[in-house]
Amino acid sequence: IDARRPLIAGNWKMNMDHLQSIALVQKLAWTLKDAKFDGTSVEVAVFPPFTDLRSVQTLIDAERFTLAFGAQDLSPHDSGAYTGDISGAFLKALSCTYVIVGHSERRQLHGETDEVVNAKVLAAVKHGLVPVICVGETEAELEEHGTSAVPVAQTKAALAGVPVGTPVVVAYEPVWAIGTGKVATPETAQEVGAAIRAAVAEALSADDAAATRILYGGSVKSGNIAGFLRQPDVDGALVGGASLDPTEFAAIARFPD
Ligand code: PEP
Repeated sequence: IDARRPLIAGNWKMNMDHLQSIALVQKLAWTLKDAKFDGTSVEVAVFPPFTDLRSVQTLIDAERFTLAFGAQDLSPHDSGAYTGDISGAFLKALSCTYVIVGHSERRQLHGETDEVVNAKVLAAVKHGLVPVICVGETEAELEEHGTSAVPVAQTKAALAGVPVGTPVVVAYEPVWAIGTGKVATPETAQEVGAAIRAAVAEALSADDAAATRILYGGSVKSGNIAGFLRQPDVDGALVGGASLDPTEFAAIARFPD
């Protein structure tokens, strides 16, 4: 299904200032071009810090790079007295396609609850951005609830009130696998991916579930991406650390080609 064209998404986190972002996007685009990547069978997206977005937009536009981009977070509000926050309207005005919502670092370091994540998902949808909704269990939750319960509950909570037919992406990122070098097995990613797809069917519709891309994230590298992409319910990856190295990220992105 074309709607499920694999998505390889690079979350830069709080790395790269706006000048460094230009160098990184250029190097990534040239590396992909050298490898004859044309973006038809795989979509590649980068998620730089807010302060880089204007530079990244200008560069991608000017060079007609086949790269998508988005932000790492947004405010649940449209505008107003929310010092330091960024509206989805501003992101849309910068031609962002995507916005990450509910990354485990936001949940853990900024106390984002399922309710906050849901409000942000609704704000993204309202402004025409595709939310990349991050779900995943901590090590303690894994021991207490097993593999799928927490990601499924987080998916349902995030999608409350989202209209049927809304494009969304869900990224399964076990918290214990983020930035740790510990990686889930492809079989676990498949098991949770299938459970998340069933949750999307329940929250939205069967058609939406069939069209929704479900990503795996957590210590993805060029050496382990293939096993994940072979799984029927894994439609790409959300990549943190390895997305800062353009050669390595391009190698991950080229894999399904
Ligand atoms: C992430 O932060 O979304 C992530 C998956 O990080 P890493 O690839 O570094 O584990």
